[in-house]
Amino acid sequence: MSESFDVIVIGGGPGGYPAAIRAAQHGLRTACIDDWQNYDGSRAFGGTCLNAGCIPSKALLESSELFHRAQHEFEVHGIRAAGVELDLGQMQQRKAGIVKQLTGGIGQLFKANKVTGMQGRGRYLGDGQVEFTDPDGNAQTLTATHVVLAAGSRPIELKSAPFDEKQIVDSWRALEFDAVPARLGVIGAGVIGLELGSVWKRLGAEVTILEAMDSFLWMADAQIAREAQRQFKRQGLDIRLGAKVQGASAGKDGVTVRFEEKGEVQELTFDKLIVCVGRRPSSEGLLGEGTGVEIDERGFVKVDHECRTGVKNVWAVGDLVRGPMLAHKATEEGVMVADLIAGKIAEVNYEVIPSVIYTAPEIAWVGKTEAQAKEAGIDYKVGTFPFAPNGRAKALEQAAGMVKLVANRRDDSIIGAHVIGPMAGELIGELVVAMEFQASIEDIQRTVHAHPTLSEAIHEAALAADGKAIHGINK
Ligand code: FAD
Ligand code: NAD
Repeated sequence: MSESFDVIVIGGGPGGYPAAIRAAQHGLRTACIDDWQNYDGSRAFGGTCLNAGCIPSKALLESSELFHRAQHEFEVHGIRAAGVELDLGQMQQRKAGIVKQLTGGIGQLFKANKVTGMQGRGRYLGDGQVEFTDPDGNAQTLTATHVVLAAGSRPIELKSAPFDEKQIVDSWRALEFDAVPARLGVIGAGVIGLELGSVWKRLGAEVTILEAMDSFLWMADAQIAREAQRQFKRQGLDIRLGAKVQGASAGKDGVTVRFEEKGEVQELTFDKLIVCVGRRPSSEGLLGEGTGVEIDERGFVKVDHECRTGVKNVWAVGDLVRGPMLAHKATEEGVMVADLIAGKIAEVNYEVIPSVIYTAPEIAWVGKTEAQAKEAGIDYKVGTFPFAPNGRAKALEQAAGMVKLVANRRDDSIIGAHVIGPMAGELIGELVVAMEFQASIEDIQRTVHAHPTLSEAIHEAALAADGKAIHGINK
C-alpha cells in the first residue's frame, strides 16, 4: 500500500519548506520532497536560497566589504591597518559554515514539527498521486489530499555563451571560485551581476559587466538607478549598457567575448565569465501526463492570486510561478497555501513586496516608482532626503545615497518607497510595515525616530514631501 499524506510539498526551498512546516503546524500529515544536491554530492534542504543564492552571496558580500573597508576606509577613521591580506579559503569556509548551519536547521525544524523530509525527486502524476524517486533510483508512489509544487528555478543559459562549468559559469559556480579572477566578465547587470560583480571587484578583480538593455536597473526608480550607476562607476565597476553579446569562446588564455556596443563589434578576454541573465522555472519533468496543471509559454505553472492551479487541491508557489523571484515572496506564498489548505483565511499582499540589492550602497524599494505613479495617472507627491547630512551615516562614513517617498496627494498615502544607502535593506522594513498598514506621509512625519539613526532620513523624506524638512533645503 502506498504511503499517504494530507499534504505533499515538492521542493524544499524557501517556498516549499515553510509551506510544509506550516501545514504540519496545522496538524496535517505532511511530507516535503527535495532533490537538491551540492557539488560534493551532499544533499540539503533549503533550495537555491540557502545553498546557492541569498545566504552564500550575502556571506561573501559581507566579507568582501570588510576586506575593502580595511584596505580603503579604515585610514579615515584613524586606523592604520598595514598588510591586510586576503585568505579566500577561510572566507569560503566561513560562508560554507553559515550555509551548513542554516540548511541543517531545516532538518531540525522538520523533526520538531513532524514533517517527513524526503530527499529525492518528486513528480505529480495526477489524482493525488506523487511519484518519489530516491537518490538510488528507487521509485514509489505516494498519495496526498493536497500537493504543493515548489520546484523553484534555475539559471537561464545563453546559446551565445553556454556554461562550461569552468570558465563560463552560473551564479552558483561564481560563489565557489577558489581564486580571485584577475579579469572577470559578467553578462547581465541585474541583481546577481551587481552583487557578484561587487564581491569579486572588492576582492581584487577587474570587473566588466555587459548589459543588453540601454537603461540601467530598469526595475528601480529612475532617480535611484542614476545614483546607483554613479556610485558603481566610482567604485570602478565597468558597466557597458546596450552591449549585445554575440558569442563567447573559452580557451587557455581565458574566455573571449564578442559583443556589439554602439554599433561596433568588440572583443574582451576574461579569466572567468559569469552569465546571469535571469532564471527560468524548474517545471520540466515535474508533472506526469495529463495532470491538467497548466504551464505557460515561459515554463511557469499557472496559478491564481491564491496560488491555486486550475486543478483542485494542487497548488504552486515561489519561483515556479508568476511574480518576483524572491525568497520572501516564495515563503509568504508557501505559508499562505498551507493556511488555505487548513481552511484558514490567508493572503499575500503582492503590492507590498520589498526588493533589496545588497551592494554598497544597498538599494531597496517597495511599491510604485515615480514613473509608475505617473503612468497610473495618480496625482502624486515626492519627498526625498539625502544621507549626506545624516549624523549616523556620517559616523558610518557611508553618507552616499538618499530616501525617496512617493505618495498619493489625494489621501496622503505612501504608494512607493525607495532607498539607496547604508543598510537600505533594513530601513525598507519600516516602509513596508507603513504601506501594509496604509500609512500616510503624515503618519511617518508624526512618528518619533531615534537620533542619531539612519531612519531619520526616512522621517526627513516624509517631511520633505510637504516642504517641511528640518535639515534640508525645501524647494
Ligand atoms: P528554490 O529555492 O529554487 O527551491 C526549489 C527546490 O526544489 C530546490 O531545492 C530544488 O532542487 C527542488 N526541486 C526542483 N524540482 C524538484 C523535483 N521535481 N523534486 C524534488 N525537488 C525538486 N532572493 C531574495 O529574496 N534575496 C536574496 O538576497 C537573494 N539572493 C539570491 C542570490 C542568488 C545568487 C540567487 C541565484 C538567487 C537569489 N535570490 C534571492 C532568489 C531566491 O534564491 C529565490 O527566489 C528562492 O530561492 C525561490 O524559492 P523557491 O522555494 O521557489 O525555489
Ligand atoms: P535579473 O533579471 O535581475 O537580471 C538579468 C539582467 O540580464 C537584466 O538586466 C537583463 O536585461 C540582462 N540580460 C538578459 N539577457 C541578456 C543578454 N543576452 N546579454 C546581456 N544582458 C542580458 O536576473 P539575475 O540577476 O540573473 O537574477 C535572477 C533572479 O534572482 C532575479 O529575479 C532576482 O530577483 C533573484 N535574485 C535576487 C536577489 C536579491 O533579492 N538581492 C539577489 C540575486 C538574485
